[in-house]
Amino acid sequence: MHIFCLLLTLPLFGAEWFVAVNGRDSNVGSIDHPFGSISRAQQSSKPGDTVYVRGGRYKINESEIAKREKIWAYVILLDKSGKPGRSISYIAYRDERPVFDFSEVKPDGLRVHAFEVKGSWLYIKGLEVVGVQVTVKTHTQSICFSNNGSNNIYEQLSMHDGQAIGLYSVRGANNLFLNCDAYKNHDYISEDKLGGNVDGFGCHPRKGYTNNVFRGCRAWFNSDDGYDCINAHEAVVFENCWAFYNGYSPEFKSLKDGNGFKAGGYGSTPVDRVPDPAPRHVVRFCLAVRNKAYGFYANHHTGGSDWINNSAYMNKNNFNMLCRLKDNKTDVPGYGHKMNNNIGYKSSRREEIIQIERSECDLFNNSFQMDLVINANDFASLDEKLLLLPRNSYGGLPNIDFMRSVSGRLVEEGALVE
Ligand code: CA
Ligand code: CA
Repeated sequence: MHIFCLLLTLPLFGAEWFVAVNGRDSNVGSIDHPFGSISRAQQSSKPGDTVYVRGGRYKINESEIAKREKIWAYVILLDKSGKPGRSISYIAYRDERPVFDFSEVKPDGLRVHAFEVKGSWLYIKGLEVVGVQVTVKTHTQSICFSNNGSNNIYEQLSMHDGQAIGLYSVRGANNLFLNCDAYKNHDYISEDKLGGNVDGFGCHPRKGYTNNVFRGCRAWFNSDDGYDCINAHEAVVFENCWAFYNGYSPEFKSLKDGNGFKAGGYGSTPVDRVPDPAPRHVVRFCLAVRNKAYGFYANHHTGGSDWINNSAYMNKNNFNMLCRLKDNKTDVPGYGHKMNNNIGYKSSRREEIIQIERSECDLFNNSFQMDLVINANDFASLDEKLLLLPRNSYGGLPNIDFMRSVSGRLVEEGALVE
């Protein structure tokens, strides 16, 4: 019996460390004598350890910047990795809510990365990041969570009321971004002050960085797009994610791009640096509501993507499938897309879907294919307030009736809402 217990317990459990607002880095890091910073907790942590972050407001000041490198200021730098099956966890303690306030961190001329995550096998959960600043007046971007590691999980994070992108991933594979919220982020300092780089979530993987998944996330009132994967060299998956009111301020003042899901494209990248074949992004079971521009946008992608079971309401056009030839120059109506069971209602422009070459796409059961006049009675609710309800106790999206088909007519006719 004793041997059994030892075998069971020794390899499985790492150490526990605590960080608290009233802690000190000279403490031992216990619950009674917690550290004062995540950076200090990282020093003590080993693979398999858990750092519990107690609730309260962590007012970060400039002297805490972990590293200044080239054009960046990494404020909290997580560069220590866990191991397979033994991640290092940084998680909110029980149901407490730790809030990291970066509003006083304004390093002159540097891009602020509030959390720069270079480690792999990390699990970050339950942290809130507010007030991240922009100090650069020319082209720039600041970021709340910058991921450059692999096999990381980001869960129940909330990034809001700052000038920075919520979550941004470039050099990392196998990352899961789960049940996170990014909202009311707008860079009003740089360039034209309209915040053209501030997406809720950005994923732009370099070659080889496969299998990045966004699930259960919400993005609203971000000055640029809700989700953006322009310049992605590998496919990105968005599932069960919501995007609404992007491209607007909370007063519905027009800001920058404002697409719900901008899935694809390479901008002005020279053709020899554009991947061929283009990765097929996957956007499924997602919802786009009243974004300034398109709900679901292929953004000049040089190939098709998969768009499955998405719902869109009151975006400029609900679907814009615009593609580009392999030369990354010649725009053409979308080709190669697979679109199943998508429904669009009440585009603010006349057409629900634009820029699609139907004969070169695999289309099945989409509302825009059918001779079907949809009206509000087909849905259990179109009350947008439901989108802002609190998450459930597991951090999942609230279970709401928004755009849920009631009459059965949409299902019978083929346009499944879910
Ligand atoms: Ca933009
Ligand atoms: Ca964008």
